[in-house]
Amino acid sequence: MNTENTVPCLYCQAKNDVEDKNCGHCGMPLALKHPENKSSRLRFFTKVFVFIAFFCLVMVAYLPR
Ligand SMILES: [Zn+2]
Repeated sequence: MNTENTVPCLYCQAKNDVEDKNCGHCGMPLALKHPENKSSRLRFFTKVFVFIAFFCLVMVAYLPR
């Protein structure tokens, strides 16, 4: 029920408890240690992408042709 304490298996996408070291469905080891890093990472990369895009636009505008 509590999705914040579950981590999806990388191999079969089954939801496992964060405390589990191996997937309860396929038995493969769970690599994710932080259940929230997916969304925060996505947000981080979005910020970096926007920053780089903005930086490129500024450079294009300021560079002599
Ligand atoms: Zn699995």
